Amino acid sequence: MLTYSLFQLATHVFHHVERIENEKLSAIKDLIVRKEKWSPYVKSKWEEHAKHSARFQCTDTGDDKWEVRNKVSGKCNIVEFRSPCPSCDCNRFKASLLPCSHICSAITANPSCNEVYDVQNLHPRWRLVYHPLHRMAMVSLGLMAPTGNGTTNSVDDADNTAIAIYSTLTVPKSETKRYNILSQLWKQAMQQAVHA
Ligand SMILES: [Zn+2]
Repeated sequence: MLTYSLFQLATHVFHHVERIENEKLSAIKDLIVRKEKWSPYVKSKWEEHAKHSARFQCTDTGDDKWEVRNKVSGKCNIVEFRSPCPSCDCNRFKASLLPCSHICSAITANPSCNEVYDVQNLHPRWRLVYHPLHRMAMVSLGLMAPTGNGTTNSVDDADNTAIAIYSTLTVPKSETKRYNILSQLWKQAMQQAVHA
């Protein structure tokens, strides 16, 4: 049976992540070339929500707030027009930060707004320019000058960094203890995901 050291496994995971990052970089470069301001995922969700915007009756209640009422159920949500983008008190918006059907409806009703599909209506979390790989993609396309001292991280540098980080890790000898720590971390991650 083949056995691998923790370092070999970590290196394998690192190269796997690196390959995924390269695929992401290539996708972002493609979007920049096509002058897109958000991803196809955002586009599909946004269009899907906008399709339902005719279901609501919108009323300006002042202070940059709009009441968005479902014409059938009467359920009411509040859309606020504040920087950096319009927000809604519905769970869909709070969970995804994507423009929900209430926001799309309020934008259409608000005369001080431009068209629905404007980057100003999109939370910065989804704007392409804020993607962690956007700068790298721009530099790679020759649309932005590289910053810093001009040196780039070589694969060797990355490997050396990985070894340095690995050597600082301390792992409990007891299998039960390792399991308990992982289980604890998993519970914390789950809680963070639920309350995010
Ligand atoms: Zn909403």
